[in-house]
Amino acid sequence: MRRRLSIFVLCGLVAFSIGLLHPGGWQPAAAQETVETIYVVQAGDTLASIALRYGVTTVEIATANRVINPNLIYVGLKLIIPAPSVASATVTSASDPASVVNRLHTVQADETLFGLALQYGTTTRLLIETNQLDRTGFIVAGQELIIPADARSNRAGVAQPTTPLPAPFTHIEIGQLPLYQGSVMEVTVRTSQPVSLTAQFGGWSMPFAQDGDHYIGLVGVGAHPVSGVAPGLHNLVITATQEHASPTRVAANVEIRPGHYNSEYIRLSADRQQLLDPALVAAEREKLNATWSVFNPQRYWSGPFRVPVDQFIRISSPFGTRRSYDGGPFSSYHEGTDFAIPGGTPVYAPADGVVMVAEPLAVRGNAVVLDHGWGLYSGYWHLSEFKVTPGQVVKQGDLLALSGNTGLSTGAHLHWDMRVLGVNVDPMQFTRQVFP
Ligand SMILES: [Zn+2]
Repeated sequence: MRRRLSIFVLCGLVAFSIGLLHPGGWQPAAAQETVETIYVVQAGDTLASIALRYGVTTVEIATANRVINPNLIYVGLKLIIPAPSVASATVTSASDPASVVNRLHTVQADETLFGLALQYGTTTRLLIETNQLDRTGFIVAGQELIIPADARSNRAGVAQPTTPLPAPFTHIEIGQLPLYQGSVMEVTVRTSQPVSLTAQFGGWSMPFAQDGDHYIGLVGVGAHPVSGVAPGLHNLVITATQEHASPTRVAANVEIRPGHYNSEYIRLSADRQQLLDPALVAAEREKLNATWSVFNPQRYWSGPFRVPVDQFIRISSPFGTRRSYDGGPFSSYHEGTDFAIPGGTPVYAPADGVVMVAEPLAVRGNAVVLDHGWGLYSGYWHLSEFKVTPGQVVKQGDLLALSGNTGLSTGAHLHWDMRVLGVNVDPMQFTRQVFP
């Protein structure tokens, strides 16, 4: 509050001195606070539909936001909506922009989410939801926060698509934004009647599971340096099919940000060199693909995952690290998270699931794979001893195995793998976020 006050005093002084310098041109200081209208792009929006809604032209929006190509808007993009020009102002009367006019607040060094909620007459929960913050509500100075337009009425001011979604779609939400290489995209769809849903993203097709009155699809954003999803805009196409009707499709651009992964050189001892044999690697992958490419419509997990070891010395290799073996090219990457722990350390189930694999493999060593349902699988490699058998149902925290140094490994550690229908994603995100 003090900061705002001092800015106004300063503005007053400047206006007054201008008045003195131009005696004939004294104008009352225009005390207009420029309230920017910020629209958050939703699935189903086009620049044209947004322009129509606000009574401005696509060129005006494009200019205000430096958008060069009108097709390159994406879900979650914050667009500044310029004031309508006189010529087009009449168009706005039919629309109801009230529910979509949000304000933007730049967080200052001494501000807290709780303080901002008080200042704008809203709740921390609504600010977290609207801005898709993590659940702790952590904010940093300089961060731009959307203040929901109808904060005072205590209703979520999350923008709705500017044109109604085509039937039978009634609601599409893409979480947890922003998305990085290696993250999991969660797509929530509501429809006016039961449908069969599929989606395509980055060459991958995604099944949906029914969860009460809505459908949820999880997609892994691949982080492989060669075959993964490159940073940039990618098209997500969701298809709803009803009996005796032609399919309805909705497309949305989704922004994928770079994962910023480090690189590491790995030297293998002579006796493990043969484990890099491409034929051997491919055969093992083929075998495991048959397991983790199966979509199980039943979900076993709920809430956040726990780290699969009670304590670890450090994360010796995080997910995504670009790898060169014995001086070769950085064409492979680390598919999971490595924990440095002594051999024989207990490894626990991070979430409920069913044991699919518990057997020795050539590259991964002694391996356990869990099916958590909805296409989500976890793997534990280089183990020394198994404590479960295939088919066994496990609860979060149940003992799976003891850690070791078997297979393609350069020392005792636990490798933890998380996959969405075979696509590797960063395991640690499951300990910080709840899917769904
Ligand atoms: Zn590893």
